[in-house]
Amino acid sequence: MKILLTSLNTKYIHSNIAIQYLKSTIENKYEVKTIDFTINQNLDDIIYEIIKGNYNIVGFSTYIWNIEQTLKISKKIKKINNKIKIVLGGPEVSYDSRNILKENKFIDFIMCGEGETTFPILMDYINGEKIDLPSGTLENKEFEILGNEIFQTINDLKVSEFEYTEKYLKDKKIVYYETSRGCPYNCEFCLSSSTKKVRYFNLDRCKSDIGKFIDLKVPLVKFIDRTFNFNKEHALEIIKFIINNDKGYTTFHLEIHPTLIDNDYLELFKISRKDLFQFEIGVQSTNMETCKAIKRVGEFEDIKRVCEKLLAFDNIHLHLDLIAGLPYENYKSLKKSFNDILSIRPDKLQLGFLKVLKGSDLWLKNREYKIVYDDYPPYEVISTKWISYEGLQKVKEIEELVDKYYNEKNFYNTFEYIVKNYYKDDFSFFEEFSKFWEERGYYLINHSRDSLYKILLEFVIEKEYENIDIITELLIHDYIMVNRKIPYFLEPNLIDKNSKHEILKNDDILNILPEKYKEVSTKKLVKNIHILKYENDIIRHYNKNQKKYLIMLYDIYNSKNYDVTQKYEEII
Ligand code: SF4
Repeated sequence: MKILLTSLNTKYIHSNIAIQYLKSTIENKYEVKTIDFTINQNLDDIIYEIIKGNYNIVGFSTYIWNIEQTLKISKKIKKINNKIKIVLGGPEVSYDSRNILKENKFIDFIMCGEGETTFPILMDYINGEKIDLPSGTLENKEFEILGNEIFQTINDLKVSEFEYTEKYLKDKKIVYYETSRGCPYNCEFCLSSSTKKVRYFNLDRCKSDIGKFIDLKVPLVKFIDRTFNFNKEHALEIIKFIINNDKGYTTFHLEIHPTLIDNDYLELFKISRKDLFQFEIGVQSTNMETCKAIKRVGEFEDIKRVCEKLLAFDNIHLHLDLIAGLPYENYKSLKKSFNDILSIRPDKLQLGFLKVLKGSDLWLKNREYKIVYDDYPPYEVISTKWISYEGLQKVKEIEELVDKYYNEKNFYNTFEYIVKNYYKDDFSFFEEFSKFWEERGYYLINHSRDSLYKILLEFVIEKEYENIDIITELLIHDYIMVNRKIPYFLEPNLIDKNSKHEILKNDDILNILPEKYKEVSTKKLVKNIHILKYENDIIRHYNKNQKKYLIMLYDIYNSKNYDVTQKYEEII
């Protein structure tokens, strides 16, 4: 019996861990292969690839982002060869399985919940062994549906241990990994709240796998533990192992609950290498009524205090989440949640929109809260008792600008200057900027990175802000720092060639540059270095009326910049 386990991921660099778990449960008995496809691939190409493999069984791991394509693919596979058995598993089919089977006759089986114990029995069953259909599995028969949809939970995760082989890890940019399963919390919008019991993988096994990721230089390891630091002893042991074995290459991404971070954690994070860790923290809302309704644990002030401590170490990337469309969150309170979270100045603010997931408590309460949501995946909120469709659309546009103008860090200094000098809070800036985008139809077209700089300048000019010259110079500075080239469209003031040569010949200047530059001729050095004269001291925030200018030297190759104003005055 030949079996294919597959899934459609959102990006080529992603891979599905569930199909690896399932493969490991049957590979000693059956011929089994895994393939990771993406939702962006041509569906007919995927279908042909599957048909060519002559599989008897094709199993799909389903999620909100791939269910539509998975159903289309399954239907066509069945039309081409109706002997192939189609098995679906994963969160998207685990909670409404009977209806899904009724509506999609081409699906043969659905497995509900965690599949590591169910799957090998199901394979034996399909193979004709005289056994019963495993619990947590439904079978589509011509006139009836057999089995039950009891959600399966694995008690002993030993059954789920599979080996991360060198072959599997080779060339992987991101590896997904879990050291625990289940979540102790009960957030009403989340499916993980249905598996409250937290179970842990053996610590020695975790250390051995993590050591392998480090040795094989996997760039990013994303832990999918729902709340990584829930068990302090377990979490600290792993964090210490990572710090002690770090080889300066791999980054570990963890979802943490900040209010569980105490001094024992902070002392470790303080000494960890820059970019060894990145944390994702789901704040979701700072509105107390909302947090209470969705059963979100943790006071915002405590969250903020911990986040600020972590950010002060300047070595950990912090990614905070906010959800629009939650109960009791209207436009005004959402604005406050946005400002509260952004006031922490995280590296990234992910502004998401409520997805009413089948099986979640909010799914059951959607009538009570008058949550109108899309019938199709990802079942995104359309309006609620508290926020209108138009209000959410406005927030959606703002989210696009947050991604472009805040998260990307391409406008870091310019953004801070504008907000600080002309707006009472961050949201007010984005609201006004968004109106400008809408009036000009900018949301309807794609923009290059250069055009985003031009649009911001256009906005600033239209607003007739004082100190437009400072903003323009900050834009030039931000542009060079990110793009490693001169934005000629912003008309920067480059110092003349002769002065540049004079400066680059100077020993004091050479001493601040990387050692290897001393061996390079001035002629060659000129290519890597740009020197600009700013009419305003944009670093110390003097403007030209205070007769302070700034000479900035940019080492393009190393993305470094140096204030050489004083040296310039001495040399030139
Ligand atoms: S949102 Fe996070 S903390 Fe809340 S139940 Fe889901 S996984 Fe757990």
